[in-house]
Parts: sequence; C-alpha cells; structure tokens
Amino acid sequence: MAALSTDVLVIGGGATGTGVAWDASLRGYDVVLVDRADLAEGTSGRFHGLIHSGGRYAVKDPHAARECIHENRILRQIAADCIEDVGGFFVTTPWDDPAYADRFLQGCRDTDVDCEEIDPAQALREEPLLNPNISRVFRVPDANIDVWKTVWALARGIQARGGRVLPYHAVVAVHRSGDTVTGARVRGASTGEEIDVEARVTVNASGAWAGTVAEMAGIEGVRVLPGRGIMIAMNHRLVNTCVNRCQMPTDGDIIVPIRTVCVIGTTDEHTDDPDDHTVHRSEVDAMLDDGEKLVPGFRQARAMRVWTGVRPLFEDAKASDTETRDVTRAHALLDHAERDGVQGFVTITGGKLTTFRLMAEDTMTAVSRHLGDERPCTTTTEPLPGSQAREHYHLGERLGRKEAHLADEQLICECEMVPRRRLEEAIQQRATTNLDDIRRLLRLGMGPCQGGFCIYRATGILHGLDGLTAEQADESLLHFLRERWKGVWPILYGDQLRQARLDDWIFHGVLDVEHLPAAPQAEAVVS
Ligand SMILES: Cc1cc2nc3c(=O)[nH]c(=O)nc-3n(C[C@H](O)[C@H](O)[C@H](O)COP(=O)(O)OP(=O)(O)OC[C@H]3O[C@@H](n4cnc5c(N)ncnc54)[C@H](O)[C@@H]3O)c2cc1C
Repeated sequence: MAALSTDVLVIGGGATGTGVAWDASLRGYDVVLVDRADLAEGTSGRFHGLIHSGGRYAVKDPHAARECIHENRILRQIAADCIEDVGGFFVTTPWDDPAYADRFLQGCRDTDVDCEEIDPAQALREEPLLNPNISRVFRVPDANIDVWKTVWALARGIQARGGRVLPYHAVVAVHRSGDTVTGARVRGASTGEEIDVEARVTVNASGAWAGTVAEMAGIEGVRVLPGRGIMIAMNHRLVNTCVNRCQMPTDGDIIVPIRTVCVIGTTDEHTDDPDDHTVHRSEVDAMLDDGEKLVPGFRQARAMRVWTGVRPLFEDAKASDTETRDVTRAHALLDHAERDGVQGFVTITGGKLTTFRLMAEDTMTAVSRHLGDERPCTTTTEPLPGSQAREHYHLGERLGRKEAHLADEQLICECEMVPRRRLEEAIQQRATTNLDDIRRLLRLGMGPCQGGFCIYRATGILHGLDGLTAEQADESLLHFLRERWKGVWPILYGDQLRQARLDDWIFHGVLDVEHLPAAPQAEAVVS
C-alpha cells in the first residue's frame, strides 16, 4: 500500500479545510489535504454566495456579527479576485415589523458593522425592480464570493509550497496508536487505491460529516446538526445589490447577485442525512413567493436551477433537533486532547463561509501549539494566488476579455463565455475527465441552457485532448447531464421548461444519448 508522511493531515476540502491547509502551508508545515469528492463539493459549493457584512446577525447574534465584519474586511484584501463588491441593502418590506429597523441600526452600531440609512427612493433608483413599498433601507458592505475560485486559489498556494491536495480521496479509517491519532487511510475514488497518511496532527474539517469522521477516531459525541437549506438561481440578475429583508433571519429573505445570476435563499430545516438533497415542490413554491415580497414579478422571472446545502451546526446545550435556525452560527474548535484525552486530533466545524479564514487561524494556532513550535499566522495579510493585485472581480470581465479577442477566441459556452483555450487549459491543469469538475472551475454549462449547447462541444474537446475512448467521453457527458438534471427538474415551468424541451430534443433527438455505448442510465438524464 502507498504511504505518505506529513506534519498536518486535513480531512475535508471545503472552505474550512482548504483554509486550514493554506494557513498550515504559510506557517511552513508540510500538509496533505484530502476530500472524498472534489474541493468544495460539500456545503461550501452549495451555499448562497454571500460574504456577510454581519448585518444579518447584528440583533440576534452580536458575536457572529462582529466576526463577519472583521473577516469581510480581511477577505476583501486577501481574496480580492474571488470577490465582487456588490454591496448590500437591508430593506423593510410591508411584511416586516417596522420596529425592527431601529434595533437593526443599533445592533450594527454595537457590533461595528458599517451601516448607513438611505432614502428608499435612492435605493429604488439603484435597484428599480425592488418592491416600491419598502419603507426603510440600510446600506451595508455585503459582497459575493466565488467559492470554487477561492478554494482552487488556496489549493494552488498550498501546492506551490509543497503541500499535497488530493480531491476524490475519502478517509475510510482514522489510525490510532493508544491515545494518539497518527493519521488516516484514504481511498481514491477512481482507482480504489488506498494510501496510508501518517501525520503528526490530523484536522477533522469535514463540516456536517465531522461527527462521522470523529467516530472513526473512536470519539463519540461530536454532534453536528445538519441544517438543510434550498436556494434557487434565477437566469439573470434581478438585482445587482445583495438585498436582505430587515427582520429577524427567516426563510427566503435574501437575494444575492452572483456572477451571471441571482440566488434567492434559503430555508433551514433539520435533516438526519447530510447527503439528502431532496427538494420539495412546496419549498420551491414558498421560496418563489418570498421572492415576490422583495421583487414583485419574481414568479414570472425565469428560475433556472434549485439546489440544497447543509449547514454544519455544532450542537450546544440549548439546541433542539428541529430548531436549527436557533443553533449558534459560531464555529466550534474541539481539541480532542483536552476534551477526550486523544492526542494529535482536532475538529473544526460550524461557522460560516465568511469566517473560514478565522476558523483556519484558530485551528492552526491550536495545532501549532501541539506541534510544539508556535508559529505565527500570516493569512490576514498574505493574498491568495491570483489576488495579489487586490482588485475585485467585476461582472463584465469575461465579456471584456472576449471583446478584446473577438477574432481569435472560439466560444464553447456562450452563457458563461468560456473560450476553447480556457477549457483546454482547465482540462490539462486539473488532469480530470470529469466535466462537472471543469464546470466548477469555469462555470461551464451554468447559464440558462444548463449545458444544452456547450456540453457536447466540451465533450468532443475532452475526447480529443485526453485520448479518452468514446465510451469514456460519453460517460463523462452523461454524468454531467445527470448532475445538471437533478437541479433542473424540480423547478420546471415557463421558459426553463421550454429550454428543457429543447435540450431534450438535442440530446435525445439529435445525439441519441439513450443509445450511446455508455448510456445504461441515459433515460434518467433528460426525459
Ligand atoms: C443553504 C446554505 C446557505 C449558506 N449561505 C451562506 C452564505 O451566504 N454565507 C456564508 O458565509 N455562509 C453560508 N452558509 C454556511 C457555509 O456554507 C458553511 O458554513 C461552510 O460552507 C462550511 O464549510 P466547511 O468547509 O466547514 O464544510 P464543507 O464545505 O461541507 O466541507 C466538508 C468537506 O468534508 C468532506 N468529507 C466528508 N466526509 C469525508 C471523508 N470521510 N473523507 C474525506 N472528506 C470528507 C466533504 O466532501 C466536504 O467537502 C450557508 C449554508 C447553507 C447550508
């Protein structure tokens, strides 16, 4: 069996685990990062996209609000290229308690969240589709973040410092020698090959799965309540500012404009299974109704896709099984030496994507102590690869690049403006034949046609570049279509239904995907 040896093994390649591995690398430790799937394929790739200003928690959870604004300011500096500075509004709609607005303003003052009340008429000039009956509006420094760009920038930084990043390597056993965790065994998804990773310290950053991984180390009682939420992407930006309802946090009260779409969310319900991504029609309906309160006509707009994610909510003494919205959003760092008498093992869970850097800092400060040579954290100032210029991403960047090279760029994905050269580079960089991995990297197939026009072109390019057999290329195409279909079918109405029919004709009528050599499950793809 293959074996690796390292200072720090990080289990979980979401924002938290990747952040921990980045922090470890910057402190000069050797690190191995593993995930059972692609990076950020867990909750981090299924979140709402918001870098919180802290406003959402200003009344209910002042500690969380302070952490958010603190991290918001840092992330804007170190991850500038992954962030779009869209700003945020908190608006009082006719459905919201008008008295909350003053509490909100005071809460922001108390927690250092930058907040300015503006005239609703000004807000409507900036966001003409907003409900004209809003009575008060507060401007806050919300932003959006492209999480896939972020984790892969972190991964590049880790690799550049000698660290190893192993997506699609699931931990199947955690090794213990007496009272000490000494590493873990991982299994590669494609080959089934197992690798023993020996580590001086093992960090469990597996989010909603942290309890299961802790059990592998023989540690009971790490209870993480998975809080499930749905989100719906609309086919374009109905607003260009993050719009939050000015009320106690509840379902469907935020619209985040991100990249070419805007996303409404979310719900928060307890689930027993963090891998259950069922979407109920009633949830979709309720979410669209909530959208109407912020943007009248929301239901007539084109809903493109729905998905779910699970919050890793660490259970505290007050929490019940069903009221996940009331469980703290603060993170939990469990030092199992102190808690359970088990050396060499630390769990980090809970928190928010906005606070992943802070979670990583706290974790590595504890790990560094265990390693006996406390080294300082530098993640507050060290920019991520690609963010050295400290310039924010802005919508229109891709269009600008395209227009600068109109003659020589062949577009593969028109919706997200992915040129052929970029696609070929990504396939080679990632050394993957999984078009869904490429999607996360480039947003290939994430626009209104959901891959209807670009994915067979991309499959042909993948086939030519990677020397795949026709069956392997077909399998990659089918895997992509199956994944896309999961998020499309629960929300089919209006224009998106028409689009799905067109895609169906392309894939069944023209390409006959049902009868491709690798197509035993093709029927479930688009019909
Ligand atoms: C609906 C919803 C909306 C949200 N919106 C926001 C928002 O707008 N802003 C914000 O700041 N926060 C938001 N959050 C919270 C935020 O998304 C999470 O707190 C954050 O993404 C958690 O990151 P993580 O790395 O800890 O967990 P994850 O991203 O879940 O990472 C854990 C990883 O562990 C891996 N793993 C599990 N088991 C194993 C194993 N045996 N071996 C190897 N790997 C394993 C998983 O594959 C996964 O990739 C939202 C959450 C939800 C559910």
